[in-house]
Amino acid sequence: MNTAFIALGSNLDSPIQQIQSALKSLHTLGDVTGISSWYQSEAIGPTQQDFLNGAVRLETPLPPLELLEALQQIEWDHHRKRITRWGPRSLDLDILLFNALSYYSKRLEIPHPRTTERAFVLLPLLDIDETLSLPGGEKISSFLPKVAYQSLNRLDSINDYR
Ligand code: ADP
Ligand code: MG
Repeated sequence: MNTAFIALGSNLDSPIQQIQSALKSLHTLGDVTGISSWYQSEAIGPTQQDFLNGAVRLETPLPPLELLEALQQIEWDHHRKRITRWGPRSLDLDILLFNALSYYSKRLEIPHPRTTERAFVLLPLLDIDETLSLPGGEKISSFLPKVAYQSLNRLDSINDYR
């Protein structure tokens, strides 16, 4: 079994439904053994709705590239809905960490480059496991000061997203 941490993000008109539906799909790829709090974050760029962000820990038999393909299939299922009804960017599923793997190719980079740069990624990861480290051993929590300026709203419930 592999342990993967996956970031979920959505900013379409009904992000709550997108995320809940994505969670159901993630259960088909393995065991979801941790779910973060949910966060509302301002989108970068003009006239975009706020994002709904979170992360899960997934115990999965899938190797990295197969996991990526499975996540992209789930994204595509959701993107399809978005093309007919909403705007782009209905669902983003990123592999943040995968065991203690460091991997780089055109298709897949692990750890995901955003892992240490965005509050909306760091905080959900630490919700699930505050002792998490990068493959090199650096504590995930050590990056928190660098993102302190990024505004992020921790929601009591996913249903508080507006
Ligand atoms: P974003 O970078 O904003 O998440 P996309 O979701 O459209 O944008 O992803 C763009 C590409 O990033 C994907 O086609 C995928 O091949 C690549 N990618 C590289 N590393 C990862 C990763 N760790 N998790 C998910 N996608 C990744
Ligand atoms: Mg992505």
